Amino acid sequence: MIDKIINLRNNVKRENRPDQYVSLWFEDEPYKNKREKSMVLVLRTRGCFWFYHSGCTMCGYYNDTNPTNVTDEDLLKQVERAKEKYSGEKIVKIYNSGSFFDRNEISQEMQLKILNTFSDAERIIVETRPEFINERMLENFYEFKNKIMIAIGLESSNDEILENSINKGFKVDNYKRAAELLLEKNFALKTYVLLKPPFLSEKKSIDDAISSIEFASQYSEIISLNPVNIQNNTLVEYLWRKGYYRSPWLWSVVEVLKRTAYLKKVVSFPTGPGKERGAHNCGKCDDEIIHAIEEFSFKQDIDILNNIKECDCKKNWKYIIEMEDLTFSTIGVQ
Ligand code: SF4
Ligand SMILES: [Zn+2]
Repeated sequence: MIDKIINLRNNVKRENRPDQYVSLWFEDEPYKNKREKSMVLVLRTRGCFWFYHSGCTMCGYYNDTNPTNVTDEDLLKQVERAKEKYSGEKIVKIYNSGSFFDRNEISQEMQLKILNTFSDAERIIVETRPEFINERMLENFYEFKNKIMIAIGLESSNDEILENSINKGFKVDNYKRAAELLLEKNFALKTYVLLKPPFLSEKKSIDDAISSIEFASQYSEIISLNPVNIQNNTLVEYLWRKGYYRSPWLWSVVEVLKRTAYLKKVVSFPTGPGKERGAHNCGKCDDEIIHAIEEFSFKQDIDILNNIKECDCKKNWKYIIEMEDLTFSTIGVQ
């Protein structure tokens, strides 16, 4: 599997634009039980160190990374340009196709500079793998303790799935250690849970997402359920092209949200929903369900999910849930 991921990645032609951020947009974000405006900035860096080993089976962020190192001066230009677009949104999300706290991607000086640049925001969300969270490093960010939310992609609380379906490169215990430390030091944690990594049936992926959410909820202020969307040059895309993978049903997203709604902290904003590469149903009912999922994510009102109109395709989905495990096999995938 690792060889396949690496081969697929070798085909990628990355753009060398070290002083240009990848993208910037505005979107609503649930914050303190309200719908608030946020600015999302994707910085261009060399990207996640895990890409250079192999990478996660569903992750296509590598496509947006820079083939050469990005210097502090380059990053400063990216951030200054982004600052020009910022108009006081309460929330700023700063992503870098990897780990914000990995000093090989962003030097510590720049990490602090970036946070200071957007210190007018009430909340700044950054992403990292758990390896980069430790006591000493958190001390350096103490002044931002009430401002930053640290997002970690746990994906699954099952080590076997982390290893064999996602190739995550860390274990649940690594997440647990980082999450416990964040909790102890009063830093807010957001956890991403993946719905339907490859080699899992629809039913198993629902069950795994639910148990992963329940596990992560003890540490997390918010949990984002991320249904897999099929990204370019990934193992998931390779399997999909061969007919061995279908992105999750929107009914599955609804099912997970309903069964974890009691936690009042699970949201989902699927990428590319209603499209073949994103979570989708039959095409007729997708729009209504996408809208309900979004509304639920802002309001945490389970009635929004319970009131979704039935569609004929729900029978097919139920049938798949009941039957797929009886026939499920990945034999033949090469
Ligand atoms: S750890 Fe995150 S950024 Fe790195 S390969 Fe996995 S999903 Fe992508
Ligand atoms: Zn339908």
